[in-house]
Amino acid sequence: MSGILPSYIQGAWWTPADDAGATDVRDASTGEVVARVSTAGLDLGAALEYARTVGQASIGALTFHERAVLLKKLALALTERKDELYALSARTGATKADSWVDIDGGIGVLFSYSGKARREMPNTRVFVDGPVEPLSKDGSFLGRHIYTRLPGVAVQVNAFNFPVWGSLEKFAPAFLAGMPTLVKPATPTGYLAEAFVRILVDSGLLPDGALQLVSGSVPGLFDHLRLGDIVGFTGSATTAEMLRAHDSVQTGGVRFTSETDSINASVLGPDAVAGTPEFEAYVRQLVTEMTSKAGQKCTAIRRALVPAASVDAVIEAVRARIAERVVVGDPRADGVTMGPLASTAQRDDVLAQVARLEAAGGEVVIGSTGTPSVTRADGSVGESPDGAFVTPLMLRFADAAADAVHQLEAFGPVASVLAYDTVAEAADLVARGGGSLVTSIATHDPEVALELMSRISAFNGRVLLLDRDDARSSTGHGSPLPNLVHGGPGRAGGGEELGGIRAVLHHMQRTAVQGSPEMLTALTGVWHAGAAANSAGRHPFRKSLAELRIGDQIVSASREVTLADIETFAHFTGDTFYAHMDEEAAAANPFFPGRVAHGYLLVSWAAGLFVDPEPGPVLANYGLENLRFLTPVSPGDEIRVELTAKQITPRETDEYGEVRWDAVIRNQKDEVVAQYDVLTLVAKQLAAA
Ligand code: NDP
Repeated sequence: MSGILPSYIQGAWWTPADDAGATDVRDASTGEVVARVSTAGLDLGAALEYARTVGQASIGALTFHERAVLLKKLALALTERKDELYALSARTGATKADSWVDIDGGIGVLFSYSGKARREMPNTRVFVDGPVEPLSKDGSFLGRHIYTRLPGVAVQVNAFNFPVWGSLEKFAPAFLAGMPTLVKPATPTGYLAEAFVRILVDSGLLPDGALQLVSGSVPGLFDHLRLGDIVGFTGSATTAEMLRAHDSVQTGGVRFTSETDSINASVLGPDAVAGTPEFEAYVRQLVTEMTSKAGQKCTAIRRALVPAASVDAVIEAVRARIAERVVVGDPRADGVTMGPLASTAQRDDVLAQVARLEAAGGEVVIGSTGTPSVTRADGSVGESPDGAFVTPLMLRFADAAADAVHQLEAFGPVASVLAYDTVAEAADLVARGGGSLVTSIATHDPEVALELMSRISAFNGRVLLLDRDDARSSTGHGSPLPNLVHGGPGRAGGGEELGGIRAVLHHMQRTAVQGSPEMLTALTGVWHAGAAANSAGRHPFRKSLAELRIGDQIVSASREVTLADIETFAHFTGDTFYAHMDEEAAAANPFFPGRVAHGYLLVSWAAGLFVDPEPGPVLANYGLENLRFLTPVSPGDEIRVELTAKQITPRETDEYGEVRWDAVIRNQKDEVVAQYDVLTLVAKQLAAA
């Protein structure tokens, strides 16, 4: 008999005093007991409080970049021991390819978030959102939006299908935001979640209280939640509905996002007839989505929308590809390409859903609902009733408008083919899903893509356009990517677990702050025009990152602009645009008084005015942002520049950091001629002489 699967609570592994009432968890192929789970006697309230106190304090001490670096180290720790995870994953029914999505996919999420956070977030603890909003004429009263982390715990309630990836996709953004996580995996595959958490704990890298795991059920969990906590749920719409109805969510201010059943569609464009690359790609993708992870993917294609004239061709092509490629059996046997479902309960549930689809007019045209003959672990072939096996199943609906096909999810290797006559009708059918995670469109006709997109975007979290140009490089209909939104409207749950930095901000509160430039500078760590600046002492280019402070400034001397300069610049660069070269034509232009200086000439001169040329800590200029030319400059005008250190971002893993400078070019009347941000890399320390 297997022992009780431990939970990781308050910094220690925990198991109940005895196994009374424990649930058996079984190998998906053989029915053998893999683990037993029980949370009898577990103090959930104390675990949550530990996260809110110890976890919040330890992660809160780190900046976004420090957290990002830790994520990368955690990813490396998992990579080193991923063989252990693969071995266990086979017990859940996952083939090697399925496990790759779950395990390497999960590790990949950590790597991606680590890189994105270091590129796209400041090395601070507060995230500034959007530009300054001027609120007074004299610039003494400004508005700015800032994000600060939620003060509670990020609770994950996960589905059984991706115990590693499903958890890491939520953990990464929560951790970056600065929130501790409590993971509650689904019981049937919780032993794989326990294994990855154990690797992370063993690594010694996790800040105290950053991650806790509950192996087993969580009665009363929501009674302990309060304002400042967030729940990310993945699973059935029924459970989501029940949890969302809890008082803590309804009136207690607990954030609740969910990802639930999604009846995703894949549309074959009218142009993509048999023989076209789009038709081939459509069929390949459909079979992949039906069989990968035995169809137990929230993103799998459930509805294949096909022009009426192509329905038979699609069914035949799918049948042929399944016959050629798909071998159902124990994932540990050679040659098996599709494993069982996660549990016999899940198998029974899928078959019951298929029966409902048949009762609603669906005809099974590929596969059968009987007990299949499968490849066993020892390579023999035959029935294996203790395993949760089903064959890939395709149904055909004569009536594409039948409610059931748009509402019932058979969470297994099951898809239905529906015929459509017009693109508008196809779009209506997509929308009948009531909100989906993803739809794909196989077409090489931009008109078809445009018409569908304009009608279905609002019903989807993601849309994949598949054609001959991207069929080989496409990451596929069913693959959520950490940098793109994963979640969808309506019955898909409305959540957004992934989506790059958007998902991090999900775990933070956006607050509009109104105040003076001085206050906003102090609060955000970003210099705001109007706050104190320091132009005394050494030129800021002579200061290392350790010495430079925001507000350090250089105010340049003035330089006169002459017609000869403009002409020289024009001929030197080849930019002889009439506004610089032809007095009469320039004067006829509503924006110019006559010939004017090139904007690029002014920006180049500004660099010459603010630069300190000797070798020093400034290593490189890597770009300009937000450049605007605001006032034309005529021959005889004078310009000068003010350059102020606006934001300093040390890089955790390099000997230098980024400095964003506020650059303002003014004319002799003090009017702003141009403004922009200059981006430089600056050494952390001055090189030893
Ligand atoms: P459930 O909704 O039953 O379970 C999902 C998670 O919720 C599990 O971790 C489960 O824990 C937990 N849970 C259940 N009841 C409670 C509760 N009262 N309080 C807190 N947590 C609770 O979904 P299943 O995993 O059983 O899957 C059923 C169906 O959900 C599938 O057939 C499919 O239709 C859909 N599904 C959708 C997915 C998606 O990504 N969109 C993914 C997986 C499933 P425990 O396991 O311990 O009961």
